[in-house]
Amino acid sequence: MIELQDKKECCGCSACANVCPKQCITMEEDQEGFLYPHVDKKACVDCGLCEKVCPIINATSKDSPHEQAGYLLQHKNERIRKESTSGGAFTAIATWVILQGGIVFGAGYRNGTFIVEHQAVDKVESLSVFRNSKYVQSVMGDTYKQVLEHLKQGRWVCFSGTPCQTEGLKGFLRGKEYEKLIVVDVVCRGVPSPSVLVRYIEAQKACIGGHFENILFRDKYYGYHYSSFSIYNKDKKKDYHKGVDSNAYLRAFFDNLSDRPSCYDCRFKKRYRQSDLTIWDCFPIEQFTKEMDGKGTTRVLVQSSKGQMIMEQIAKDVRVISVHPDKLVEGVREMFHSVPMNPKRELFFKDCNQMEPVAFFRKWFPLTLKVRLNSYVRLMCHNLGIYTFAKRLFMKFYIRKDERVK
Ligand SMILES: Cc1cc2nc3c(=O)[nH]c(=O)nc-3n(C[C@H](O)[C@H](O)[C@H](O)COP(=O)(O)OP(=O)(O)OC[C@H]3O[C@@H](n4cnc5c(N)ncnc54)[C@H](O)[C@@H]3O)c2cc1C
Ligand code: SF4
Ligand code: SF4
Ligand code: SF4
Repeated sequence: MIELQDKKECCGCSACANVCPKQCITMEEDQEGFLYPHVDKKACVDCGLCEKVCPIINATSKDSPHEQAGYLLQHKNERIRKESTSGGAFTAIATWVILQGGIVFGAGYRNGTFIVEHQAVDKVESLSVFRNSKYVQSVMGDTYKQVLEHLKQGRWVCFSGTPCQTEGLKGFLRGKEYEKLIVVDVVCRGVPSPSVLVRYIEAQKACIGGHFENILFRDKYYGYHYSSFSIYNKDKKKDYHKGVDSNAYLRAFFDNLSDRPSCYDCRFKKRYRQSDLTIWDCFPIEQFTKEMDGKGTTRVLVQSSKGQMIMEQIAKDVRVISVHPDKLVEGVREMFHSVPMNPKRELFFKDCNQMEPVAFFRKWFPLTLKVRLNSYVRLMCHNLGIYTFAKRLFMKFYIRKDERVK
């Protein structure tokens, strides 16, 4: 039976709740807004299945090498690429699965809300629900059971998620291989708390007003290199777009304040994964090729022969350049290292629960002169069309300075 001693020991994947034959595990929200398993001990028959499927209990620190291939990918459909976080690789993969009569699972907003949950889509035109990374933990519900049902019916199934969610699925399937299952994981920095997002939306509703139609965490409104947190309002005049420099929600995320505890000691940071394809951003495209533009590129690491087959099948919809996998993963910190927990995290959540939302975000992320100036300079660079150049220059200078210090 699952008995958690430390919150870092649970990534919230829900594999235990999905597998329990007595349905005596429920996922319950803690005071930080993250879900954890709660076992009804009276109903438990001590079969041990929950422990057998848990990806954290069974995590191995060994990164066992297998054959890999690396690619840079851009979707040829510019609308799809703009709506996607990076190059639109996921839509290309998912489209192929649906065209085989298959079904695709990923993270999207629950209809009419901003609650992020795993859901299924089997129409190409509905895939937009998955596009753009949602920087919040998605609710898994009984997704793993649904995946298994479809596999048993002989259907193609694509499951996408964070590495802990994809390993949770693999644990739930207990080592059984399914020819028609395609697993896609992302390189994952961490997942913020759903309750911080709820508070943030409350604060923004009080400040902006209107009717929020869509929220994007990685909008390309100012381009791929200066992505923004965007809120699209029914009244277009009230639309909101702010970058990581000045948006409170993104600042909390990138200051390592709002993540799930397990993310600060992530057991899934590795190169060789159980998935078929691993996807993530490629900002410094110029270091790889001059043939691709800077409007968004996905790095794709092929982890299996099935993953390689998919890359061949989607070739007509995408522009692809082959890159040696060693070069593809070089310097990708989030693939190998957890982010450090911010020492002020406990206080952050205490305030989040106790303070009125607008006051809370103003206290933690004040719009100081420095923040405003940073934002202004970035926007100026964007408007002058030199944002990417200026950023690169800054990084170069910054790295040199860093090396001098060492
Ligand atoms: C929480 C999170 C953290 C990430 N951290 C990094 C990082 O540190 N460095 C990096 O290079 N890339 C990171 N990525 C990956 C990156 O943001 C893109 O997902 C990737 O570049 C693929 O983009 P795309 O254009 O091909 O796909 P898109 O069309 O953008 O597809 C997005 C995919 O991500 C899935 N997804 C979206 N939100 C969630 C969620 N909350 N939980 C689980 N799955 C989700 C969707 O189901 C879909 O499969 C992260 C993604 C997420 C979701
Ligand atoms: S030991 Fe078996 S019955 Fe008990 S909670 Fe775990 S899966 Fe359910
Ligand atoms: S990591 Fe997943 S399987 Fe393990 S206890 Fe947490 S929710 Fe259950
Ligand atoms: S950082 Fe690790 S534990 Fe956290 S969501 Fe990503 S894969 Fe899961």
